[in-house]
Amino acid sequence: MFTRHHAVWPDDLPKHLSVPETSLFNNLEVSARRFPNKTAIIFYDTLITYTELLREVEAMAGYLRHLGVAKGDRVLLYMQNSPQFTIAYYAILRADAVVIPVNPMNHSAELEHYLHDTGAAVCLCGQELTGFISPLVGTAQLGHVIVATYSDYVRQPTDLALPAEVQAPAVTPDFAGAIAWSEALNAGHKAGPHTAGPDDLCVFPYSSGTTGAPKGCMHTHRSAMATIIHRVVWTNSTSESVILATLPYFHVTGMQGAMSGPIYNGGTAVIMTRWDRTVAAQLIERHKVTGWVNIATMAIDFLSDPDVERYDLSSLVSVGGGGAAMPKAVEEKLHRLTGLRYIEGYGLSETIAATHINPVPRPKPQCLGIPVFDVDSRVIDLTTGQELGPNEVGEIISRGPQLFQGYWNRPEETERAFIDLDGHRFFRTGDMGYYDEEGYFFLVDRVKRMINASGFKVWPSEVESLMYRHPAIQECCVISCPDPKRGETVKACVVLRNGQAGQVSEQDVIDWCKAEMAAYKAPVFVEFVESLPRSSTGKLMWRALQEEENRKHAIR
Ligand code: AMP
Repeated sequence: MFTRHHAVWPDDLPKHLSVPETSLFNNLEVSARRFPNKTAIIFYDTLITYTELLREVEAMAGYLRHLGVAKGDRVLLYMQNSPQFTIAYYAILRADAVVIPVNPMNHSAELEHYLHDTGAAVCLCGQELTGFISPLVGTAQLGHVIVATYSDYVRQPTDLALPAEVQAPAVTPDFAGAIAWSEALNAGHKAGPHTAGPDDLCVFPYSSGTTGAPKGCMHTHRSAMATIIHRVVWTNSTSESVILATLPYFHVTGMQGAMSGPIYNGGTAVIMTRWDRTVAAQLIERHKVTGWVNIATMAIDFLSDPDVERYDLSSLVSVGGGGAAMPKAVEEKLHRLTGLRYIEGYGLSETIAATHINPVPRPKPQCLGIPVFDVDSRVIDLTTGQELGPNEVGEIISRGPQLFQGYWNRPEETERAFIDLDGHRFFRTGDMGYYDEEGYFFLVDRVKRMINASGFKVWPSEVESLMYRHPAIQECCVISCPDPKRGETVKACVVLRNGQAGQVSEQDVIDWCKAEMAAYKAPVFVEFVESLPRSSTGKLMWRALQEEENRKHAIR
């Protein structure tokens, strides 16, 4: 019988890790007590200490309480990576409420779903995004929007090329419900007692799961704490670690690895608002970055910079990431340049980051890694649900301390996401893969409806429901299409309403989508078709279209 603790388990690591019985906010309190004057955040060239960070988190939590935010309330966090993101995240937790992290690429139509789904009354938002959220004040419960200006935290002169939204000066927000960040911080409200404990809800990252609309993955402080400490221990991070935060904080890998990890052990996060390979190299050299959590596309771009060898990258001791596969040639180049092996990991929003990571002493290329501390991961046959052996492809299932509680307000979809095996409840990942004789897991395919475009997860059902707002669209089906740069990209097969043929072009539909939804979701290809394949019960047979598309590309 295959056992998960096998020969490759790193000698210096324990096989079990206890998760602290505290809230995530307690991590910040403890680090501020241990390292009051240490730098918690570097924003380009501005340093923010743990004392300053805690003071602003307390002030913002006080304001949230003043607005009526109470234990368990959901609060939207709609911002790019910035010191304000960290402050807002920990202030929401300090107020015993639940963080709803929203991709800052989303537009109004997508935000509406989050507002109805969560009933959030307050949103903390980046200044450059107010155009999308301001029309929604009054939608569902939304009453207040606290607006952050990133340039407020650029307090040291810098020669780094700052993105436009980081250079933009503060504009007084003047829409109904708007509150300027500085007004909230300086209002002097007290947050009162912090009562959230390990079993209270903490954050709902959104995912469509295997199918359907985006759903909130309910995580407690306990499950969130698990992947934080797993990564910290696995990568041997300490209070001396300086982590480059290039992955978006709204997504679990960036949130856990580059924001909450450093706060847990008193380390430093070097925050970038937008990806820029030159600035990333300058920051690594200038601030002696030790760890970089990224995604394959960023590493590819970084290493293809003809000037990359000019930078001193010798401070790096750990480079890794997840969310998408890392090409072997790129991994080799990283090794040549830094002497480091890329440490790939694998996880989902439902597991709030990694369940599998490659062992640092012996990683394998294009491999998800081995199940980390206290994770039991197996592979099952899709039809019979029977457990499979080494090298047999099936659905990857996992259980462990990082598993979510279920999808917010969706008991049926929650039920479908689990399977019982050997008397235990396992989460069905919707990913197809296998493990080898040494217990390393590999990804082969997906059972679920998801498109992985450079690590950005596109949920076809969400795109379809947005496209149905187009007056000329009768029916549509969104599928994946191979893309040399992004790995996969989005294609929509569209049936036009009667009389619309010739009135609207494929390009018109593409342009309309670009304006209505986050850029990474908008179809790059649109094909008009007479009809869509449906089953006898009327169900859209998206897989048939997907297979046809795959065949076309295989022939080319
Ligand atoms: P998300 O919920 O956005 O984190 O997306 C989770 C999905 O990302 C997984 O179900 C996989 O399909 C994909 N994924 C995660 N890690 C990897 C990896 N290392 N290689 C390839 N795909 C990955």
